[in-house]
Amino acid sequence: MPSAPTTATTIKGLAAHAAGAELLPFKYDPGPLDDYQVEIKISHCGICHSDLHLISNDWGISEFPFIPGHEVVGTVASIGARVTNLTVGRRVGLGWQSGSCGDCEWCSRGMENLCPKAEATCVHRNGGYADRVRGNAHFVIPIPEALESANAAPLLCAGITVYNPLRNHGVNPSSRVGVIGIGGLGHLALQFARAFGAEVTAFSTSTSKEAEALELGAHHFVNSRESKALSAVAGKFDLIISTINADQDWATYINALRPTGTLCFVGVPPSPVSFAAFPLIAGLRTVAGSPIGSPFRLHEMLDVAARHGIKAQIETFPMAKANEAIQKVKKNAVRYRAVLEN
Ligand code: NAP
Ligand code: ZN
Repeated sequence: MPSAPTTATTIKGLAAHAAGAELLPFKYDPGPLDDYQVEIKISHCGICHSDLHLISNDWGISEFPFIPGHEVVGTVASIGARVTNLTVGRRVGLGWQSGSCGDCEWCSRGMENLCPKAEATCVHRNGGYADRVRGNAHFVIPIPEALESANAAPLLCAGITVYNPLRNHGVNPSSRVGVIGIGGLGHLALQFARAFGAEVTAFSTSTSKEAEALELGAHHFVNSRESKALSAVAGKFDLIISTINADQDWATYINALRPTGTLCFVGVPPSPVSFAAFPLIAGLRTVAGSPIGSPFRLHEMLDVAARHGIKAQIETFPMAKANEAIQKVKKNAVRYRAVLEN
């Protein structure tokens, strides 16, 4: 029996009311459901480090109060009048992006994540540390049956963010890939890079993560606080993905690239990134960045995860304990993604 649609008149969640403040219970009236929107009854929401950046207003784009959360899994509670791709009761996910203009060059090229009018699930609106959330149906992605909801939630942002550069930079069995930072994004990057057939190296400040990094798919583990270990890998990598939210001596990682190699930033360091141009010129090397991924790539990534047994390693917390979970993420003490459960 298909479930009957229900559209919320009040959505309840936990909101930040000021930069860096503890989250407090918060309710809002979402108004009528737009024709192209889907309302999701949330079962799980991952805690991405971008939520922490938003709560602290590190990027100057947060509008308080707001409910963070953009790694959502749940079931479709109701659909707008013109939604044809989803039905009520379907298990779905929603990531960082919840809308785009739909007709610019980038939307029509299937690169909606580059749309200048892209809408984010929890920027200037309320996200997934809540009982429900809404997004445009195009960005609401069915979850393959083989994936459990709690482990799938982090794929919606962390997973796609590392999957996309592996695909865009043509990673294959001949590639040597480095991943800097083995947190929420990094531990998924190890798994995807291994599934792509690459030789994989984890760069980490946490020596306690070595055994798990190797189990997750790394062939090698480098303690990134040891300059000797870093110089030993000079000239080795085709692609290094940096997932960390901290400053580093980036020149060391540029030196770790082979000729034609790329250092790709997905993590957001607090300071401007600086390095000498000569090693880029001499080795035809590239420094790049990459934002999340398109809905098409989200479908593909979830399918790859389901078929290759890729899943987030998680610690679950009841939704009401979001503040406790956030503190643990801040201390880099979660292995490897905190997921809130309703
Ligand atoms: P996370 O789970 O907290 O992991 C970050 C990892 O960075 C930590 O586990 C740690 O790994 C490393 N790290 C932390 N502090 C460090 C320090 N002082 N020096 C060196 N390494 C340090 O965070 P996340 O959720 O993976 O997010 C990481 C970054 O990606 C954030 O900046 C987030 O905003 C960004 N992000 C970007 C996109 C995008 O579209 N580009 C999407 C999602 C997230 P080790 O213990 O292994 O050293
Ligand atoms: Zn995120």
